[in-house]
Amino acid sequence: MFEKILIANRGEIALRIQRACRTLGIKSVAIYSEADKDAKYVKIADEAVCIGPAKSSQSYLHVPSIIAAAEITNAQAIHPGYGFLSENAEFARRVEGSGFVFIGPRPENIATMGDKVKAKEAMIKAGVPVVPGSEGELPLNDKEVIKIARKVGYPVIIKAVAGGGGRGMRVVTKEEDLLSLLEITRSEALAGFGNPAVYMERYLTKPRHIEIQILADEYGNVIHLGERDCSMQRRHQKVIEEAPGVGITEKMRKTIGDACVKACKAIKYRGAGTFEFLFENGEFFFIEMNTRVQVEHTVTEMITGIDIVKEQIYIASGEKLRYKQSKVVFKGHAIECRINAEDPYTFVPSPGKIEHCHFAGGNGIRIDSHVYSGYSVPPFYDSMIGKIIAHGENRTETINRMKGALLETTFKGIKTNIPLHLDLLNNHGFCEGAQSIHYLEHYLKNK
Ligand code: ADP
Repeated sequence: MFEKILIANRGEIALRIQRACRTLGIKSVAIYSEADKDAKYVKIADEAVCIGPAKSSQSYLHVPSIIAAAEITNAQAIHPGYGFLSENAEFARRVEGSGFVFIGPRPENIATMGDKVKAKEAMIKAGVPVVPGSEGELPLNDKEVIKIARKVGYPVIIKAVAGGGGRGMRVVTKEEDLLSLLEITRSEALAGFGNPAVYMERYLTKPRHIEIQILADEYGNVIHLGERDCSMQRRHQKVIEEAPGVGITEKMRKTIGDACVKACKAIKYRGAGTFEFLFENGEFFFIEMNTRVQVEHTVTEMITGIDIVKEQIYIASGEKLRYKQSKVVFKGHAIECRINAEDPYTFVPSPGKIEHCHFAGGNGIRIDSHVYSGYSVPPFYDSMIGKIIAHGENRTETINRMKGALLETTFKGIKTNIPLHLDLLNNHGFCEGAQSIHYLEHYLKNK
């Protein structure tokens, strides 16, 4: 096992990884930008290294500074968290090339899955169902594209091959709009991801977002930890997640879970990962794989009792997977609310000083947040300031428990989206469950 791990991230996930290291008795190194010097996990870290100014490109995305921090602190491994460099194959290569262990998948796997066309090809080969669409990238010939769109059938969605974070996609409902929207998506893809290539999928009109968490070791052992429903989205970004998915039967879970396990074996995947699917009329369609820990990993942890970050560290240290599929049992229901520093109705970010804050607690409530009274939320990064996770015997109990936790939680000095969460948890449709990915947007429009 490692003696020291460097955490190449910030915010709640940096704290989450620090906690896992402490649990395992491993020392950890926090890296931070000048804007994060007052973060608590920095102050209480075993060691902390300032790696540059606030701007991410000069700190959390600056590979030489991060590697240098690992060198001077004698860390043995680097955990990338999510976002930033976590899905950057070149970073993983540089980490390993500099003699450190990258706590994540093999660089080849990251590269394949980071290219959504290659990822889909790999999944088709491995027998995982995918959304019907273009075979690979769209050609530059307009006539060809028009033909492909007719074959796929409108509405279609044009997506950047290198896209991520819910950006770089456009829905096209009719042929007249196809070429102009194609052009826009291509130039946005080039500007946003450095690669203008795009592909096309049939646009599913009422799907749910259901994803499968997997864990795989170095030696070809793979298990799945069931599904999460992440259909409550705004601008393709998840707001509330839960596990298990309403109406997902044991049989469905086994079929899709086994397909993901088989795919991991086929591509020799290692580490934690998530297969994202759209789920419509009882069918699963693969959209992408995330080769890292996800924000919403917590709900799976609550219902399985498996600490996913801890297992990532075990796997990276070369241990065999510590769980067999038959030992994975699901208990109760869990829901996560992402708490953002933003106006709950206009969604305008609300960084600044938290004059006072108080988080809920009690049985079945988990708080993953790095903020505290007196902390200033910097304006430079993502607006998520923490997550509240509720676990209960069943979904109704979990919703009730979450409502209580949201009522107990208070913030003074900044705005948060807690009122929106409360509205949603009191909403009839949400409580019914099994809503599509468009539910939240429609709900907000009607409000
Ligand atoms: P990203 O990597 O940017 O998160 P994804 O491919 O995972 O992109 O898609 C993000 C979200 O966009 C999905 O959760 C879903 O809401 C929507 N989406 C993507 N592809 C389709 C599709 N073919 N039909 C309908 N919605 C889609």
